[in-house]
Amino acid sequence: MNAVELTRELVKIDTIIPASPERPCAERVGKLLEDAGFAVSRHEFAPGRTSVVARRAGADALCLAGHIDTVPLGAAKWKHDPFGGELSAGLLYGRGSSDMKSGVAAMVAAALDLARMPLRKGLVLVIVAGEETGCEGAAHLARTSGALGTAGAMIVGEPTGNVPVVGHKGALWLRAVTRGVTAHGSMPEKGVNAVVKAARAVLALAAWKFDVAPDPLLGHPTLNVGTFQGGLNVNSVPDQAVIGVDIRTIPAQRHAELRKRLQDALGGDVEIEPIVDLEGIRTAEDHPFVQSTIDAVAQVTGERPKPGTATYFTDASVLTPAYGGIPTVVLGPGEMALCHQTDEHCRVERVEQAVEIYSRIARAWCEA
Ligand SMILES: [Zn+2]
Repeated sequence: MNAVELTRELVKIDTIIPASPERPCAERVGKLLEDAGFAVSRHEFAPGRTSVVARRAGADALCLAGHIDTVPLGAAKWKHDPFGGELSAGLLYGRGSSDMKSGVAAMVAAALDLARMPLRKGLVLVIVAGEETGCEGAAHLARTSGALGTAGAMIVGEPTGNVPVVGHKGALWLRAVTRGVTAHGSMPEKGVNAVVKAARAVLALAAWKFDVAPDPLLGHPTLNVGTFQGGLNVNSVPDQAVIGVDIRTIPAQRHAELRKRLQDALGGDVEIEPIVDLEGIRTAEDHPFVQSTIDAVAQVTGERPKPGTATYFTDASVLTPAYGGIPTVVLGPGEMALCHQTDEHCRVERVEQAVEIYSRIARAWCEA
């Protein structure tokens, strides 16, 4: 199976969520793996929202993980058909080409090659729906008994330009609500102003200090107040205000504990509920599995990369803990800088290299 052709084929299947559920794309990938002898199971967290788990028997499996949903096209007009899979000057264009149908295609192509080889360990592909909206597909697999099986290490094929990425921050997005009592704007003393309460909460959040040492690669955690809504008309005392808070944590932080500290600091007037709650991941640079991914990249590209970090979160936030905290590396052929952009594309050469890199990582894992 040619990974570039498969990328084009997958790009031509619209999987922009929520309008176009992933099922047709999942079926295509599932069929290829099934025909190659993998035991394939399909799981839907909502109608048409299909994830695929394909397993080749063997203990201590290597997991290759990716997602098949994409984000919307945006308002700007595309020069290249977003569902055309056009090839031009060594680039492959389309929505999902970098993020991350090229990664999925390279993983599937590598798996089909590996299916013909005798391997001493297992191999499992976890191809999920609904990553972009907060790892819904991965979370569904994690809570479905037996769906994921076991694995000993994992590669997530998100776009890194084929550089091994050993960690990313977590995301804790919160909706904070304050409540008051409405009254006529000419008699504010008769009401309780929810916007004023929310304003105090925003100032407390703006002054927030995290009590955690920075991660050597990921740096400090961050907090941003992204939205603020309150009041319906100027001549009433508002009885509700809502703040949206985007916190990016480092893997040393536990979200439950952080939420409790925030709640204590903001007091009983502010109700906090999580919208997205995904912890970060981090594997030590000197871990043998990380070193094996660096070796594989060096053998294929001729350059020895330094392990990096990503600014985005991935399905690893869910899958790595679900597999018991296995060593995890994010490594994929897409371009990190092009995710979610107009005229998204990937480099054909990197897709071809990724097949060989995944195959070498799997063979090294199975021989170790
Ligand atoms: Zn992605």
